[in-house]
Amino acid sequence: MPATILRLALPSPLRRLFDYAVPADLQHIAWQPGMRLRVPFGRREIIGILVEVSQHSEVPADKLKPALALLDAQSPLPPALFKLCLWTAQYYQHSLGDTLSWALPVLLRQGEPAEARQERFWQIAAGAQLDDPRIARAPRQREALQTLAQHPHGVPHRLLSQLQLNKDSLDLLLEKALVTCEARRHPLPARHLNWLAQPELPLNPEQQSAVSAIQSAGGHFNAFLLAGVTGSGKTEVYLQLIHQTLAAGKQALVLIPEINLGPQTLARFEQRFNARIALLHSNVNDRERLDAWLAARDGEADIIIGTRSALFTPMLKPGLIIIDEEHDASYKQQEGLRYHARDLALVRARQENIPIVLGSATPSLESLHNAHAGRYALLKLTQRAGGAQPPRFLRLDIKSLPLDSGISGPLQQAIKQTLAAGQQVLVFLNRRGFAPTLLCHDCGWISQCPRCDARMTVHQRSGELRCHHCGYSERSPRNCPDCGKVDLRPLGAGTERAEERLEILFPDTPVLRIDRDSTTRKGAMDQLLTTIHHGEPCILVGTQMLAKGHHFPRVTLVAILDADGGLFSADFRASERMAQLIVQVAGRAGRAEEAGRVIIQTHLADHPLLVQLTEQGYFAFAEQALSERRSTGLPPFSHLALLRAEAHKPGQAEEFLDQACSEAEHLLAELALHGVELLGPIPAPMERRAGRYRAQLLLQANARAPLHRLLAALLAALERMPSGRAVRWSLDVDPIDLF
Ligand code: ADP
Ligand code: ZN
Ligand code: ZN
Repeated sequence: MPATILRLALPSPLRRLFDYAVPADLQHIAWQPGMRLRVPFGRREIIGILVEVSQHSEVPADKLKPALALLDAQSPLPPALFKLCLWTAQYYQHSLGDTLSWALPVLLRQGEPAEARQERFWQIAAGAQLDDPRIARAPRQREALQTLAQHPHGVPHRLLSQLQLNKDSLDLLLEKALVTCEARRHPLPARHLNWLAQPELPLNPEQQSAVSAIQSAGGHFNAFLLAGVTGSGKTEVYLQLIHQTLAAGKQALVLIPEINLGPQTLARFEQRFNARIALLHSNVNDRERLDAWLAARDGEADIIIGTRSALFTPMLKPGLIIIDEEHDASYKQQEGLRYHARDLALVRARQENIPIVLGSATPSLESLHNAHAGRYALLKLTQRAGGAQPPRFLRLDIKSLPLDSGISGPLQQAIKQTLAAGQQVLVFLNRRGFAPTLLCHDCGWISQCPRCDARMTVHQRSGELRCHHCGYSERSPRNCPDCGKVDLRPLGAGTERAEERLEILFPDTPVLRIDRDSTTRKGAMDQLLTTIHHGEPCILVGTQMLAKGHHFPRVTLVAILDADGGLFSADFRASERMAQLIVQVAGRAGRAEEAGRVIIQTHLADHPLLVQLTEQGYFAFAEQALSERRSTGLPPFSHLALLRAEAHKPGQAEEFLDQACSEAEHLLAELALHGVELLGPIPAPMERRAGRYRAQLLLQANARAPLHRLLAALLAALERMPSGRAVRWSLDVDPIDLF
C-alpha cells in the first residue's frame, strides 16, 4: 500500500501545497483538514496546516521529508471556516497558506494550543481540617489554609499576593495534600435566561417593517441592505435582531469599520445585553484575540464584534451577520491578502445559511446595484428616529471669493452666527497638517518627497515636512534649499492651518482639532469628546475621523471646506466617496431638536452630482452615479483586477507587466475566453513611492467567470516567470483603489 502523503498549506506566497511524509509515530492518526503540523522548511521549522492527505506525490519518495510533530489532536478550525478560507484563497488568487495566516489569530499560527487559556487554581482539599495536627506549629500554613477555606471555589494563582497567600506555605500544604492546585479554565458566566439588561425601544413603523422583513428569512440565508439615513435608528434594528438571534440560541457577528470602534458603539451593545461579548479589533493583544476567537468557536461568546479580520471568527452556532457602514473602505484590506470583508461576509452567510444585514446611510454603489438586481432586499429607513430633523444643504460658490486659510467670508459669518446662538460648529477638511506644500516664492522650489512623486506636507506644530505616502519626514527648512532665500510659503490649507486661523478669528471660542495627529496620545480622543459633549459653543476642525460614528447633538453647522477634490479626481470612485463623506459628516449635525445646516464650499456649485446630492439626497445621487458607471462600463457594471508591480529601477516593473500582458493575451486566445480587456501596463498614478517605481496592468471584464479563469492561469504563469523575481508584484481582485 502506498504511504500516506500529508499535503500542507504553508505560510508562503507560493500558490501550491507542500508534501510531507507521515513520521513513524503518527502512522495511526485520523487526519483532519485544519490540523497543524510542525515541518522542516529549508533550514527552518515552520507550522503548516493540513489540507488533505493523498496517496501520491510529485516529490520522489526519497526527497520527501517527514513532518516533525502534530500540534492538534483535533482540527482547531471548524470545517465551515476552513471552507471559507479555501474560497477566499481561490477568489483572490492568493496562496492558501498565506490566506490562513491572515485569517487565523497570530498565536494559532505560532503553534499555541487551540484551547482557552488555563489558569492554576489553589483550593482547599476535600476533607482537609483547619486543625490538622501537622500544621499545629506552622502558623503561616494555618493562616493560608484558613484563607483558602474562605474561597471554596479556589483562588487563581495570579491573585495569591492580593490575598496575602504565600507560595512557600501553599507548597508545603500541597505536600501534605491539604490543598490542591489544578489548571483549569476560567469559570464562564452562564448563558442568560433574560438577555435584555435594558428595555428595547418601541420601534417606529419603518424600523418595525425592517425587523419583520429580516425575521421572515426564518434564520436562513438572505441578504438585506438596510439603507437608513444617519440617525434613523439602524443600530436599534441591529440590537433587536441580535436579541432574537440570542433568544434562538445562536450567535451574532457584527463587523464595524476600524474607526468606529469607539467606546460609544461598544457601550450600546454592552448596556443592552446580558451577553458574553467577544471583541476582535486591532487594539486587542494576541492572547485576547485568541481567547475571543476560541470563545466564539466554542459557543461561549454570544456576540462577536470586530473589525475587518473578525469576519474569519468561527462560530459554533452562527445565527446572524451584520456589517455596519458597509460602504466603508476599511473593509477592504490593502496589503497581502486583499480581501473585502463585506463581500466575504456574503459568501460566509450563504455557506452557513444565515441572514446577513448590510447597513449604511450611504450604501456603496455595488450594494445598491445588487439590491436593484434583486440579490439583496432593500430596506429603507427614511426618517430620523426620535424626530430629529434632516440637515439643510447649501452649496457656497467660492469662485473668485477670497479664501482665508481655506475659509470664505460668508462661511465666517455663518460660523459667527452659530456660535452666537450658543451652538457648535464642525469644520471638515480631509487633509491633515498645516499645508499640503511648501513653496519658495522666489525660485519656485517645492517640498518634494525624495522618495515619492509627491509633495511633503508642512506640519507646523512639529516643525516638520512629512510625506503622507511613505512616512518620510525632515525638519522644515528656514531657507530655501535651492536658492537660500527666506521666503518659503505654505501653500493650501490642512486642518492645522484651519485650526490656527479659526483661533485667531474666534479668540473667545475653543477650537478643537480632531485628526490622526491630534488623537495619537491615548485618551486624547475621549478628552476631546468629553469637551464637545459638554455642549458649550466650540468649533471642531477635523478630517474624516469626524465623519463616523459620533453623535454631536449640539453641532448645528457643518462646513465642508473643499468638496472639489472628489469631483476632479481621476479615480472613478472619488465622487462616490466624496458624496458618502459629505452625507456622513452632515449626519453629525442637528441630531437633537435643532435642524442642522451644511455649507459646502465649492468651485463647481453647478456640478450635476453635487446638485443632485444636496437637493435630492444620497439615493438620487447614487442613481445618477450608477447610470454614469453603466454608460462607461465601470464597476459594478464590470469587474476589475489590478496587477501591480514595483521595482527599484525605473522601467523594470513595466517590463515585467509587459510580459504579463503578452502572457495574458496568449492565455485568452488559448483558453478561448471572451470579454476580458487588458488595459496597460501604465505607470501608477504616483509612479515613485518610497523609492520604488510602480506600474500596473488593469484587467476589466464584463463577467467574472472568464476573468477568474484567466487570472488562475495567468498567476501560475507569472510565478514561473524569471522577470517576476526582480520585481515585487501583487494581484488585487476587485480593487477599490486604482493607485
Ligand atoms: P443610526 O445607527 O441609524 O445612525 P442610531 O441607532 O444611532 O441611528 O439612532 C439615533 C438615535 O435615535 C439614538 O439616540 C437612538 O437611541 C434613537 N432611536 C433609535 N430608534 C429609536 C426609536 N425607535 N425610538 C426612539 N428613539 C430611537
Ligand atoms: Zn528658492
Ligand atoms: Zn514619500
